[in-house]
Amino acid sequence: MRIGVMFPDVSGALMRHSATEKYPFQRQGVTARLRSLLKWNPEACTGCGLCAMDCPAEAIQVNVLDRKAKRFVFAYQVDRCAFCGQCVESCRQGALEMANDRWELAALNKEPFMLYFGDPDDIKTVLAAEPAGEAGIPADK
Ligand code: SF4
Ligand code: SF4
Repeated sequence: MRIGVMFPDVSGALMRHSATEKYPFQRQGVTARLRSLLKWNPEACTGCGLCAMDCPAEAIQVNVLDRKAKRFVFAYQVDRCAFCGQCVESCRQGALEMANDRWELAALNKEPFMLYFGDPDDIKTVLAAEPAGEAGIPADK
């Protein structure tokens, strides 16, 4: 290709704004409807387990320690989740929603992808009963 033919393209490219973004130093806003990590409301949850039954990815486990006392541990396997929103639809108590602000989920190991919601002592009880290697981390609600 001759230099005279290339020149308009090269000079045009130099004048245009970059197509790439300076992430993570500059972040674009996200849409309100973005589906990211699940949020669980322990006050509203009845431990019915519908969310787990309807999850196509088997990403949820509802551990009922004491139904009357509302002692539940909601286990959420993030790396299985397809972010389809079915569990939110299925929950008749409105105890689940998908946050739109917790979408930066990359990690160097598996631990952050296994989240446990609930009372810390109840989480310890559930983790003690888990097979080795299944343990994850307690999550913020
Ligand atoms: S969003 Fe879909 S895949 Fe993820 S936990 Fe809910 S039902 Fe399962
Ligand atoms: S469907 Fe709702 S109320 Fe039932 S266990 Fe799941 S989060 Fe709790």
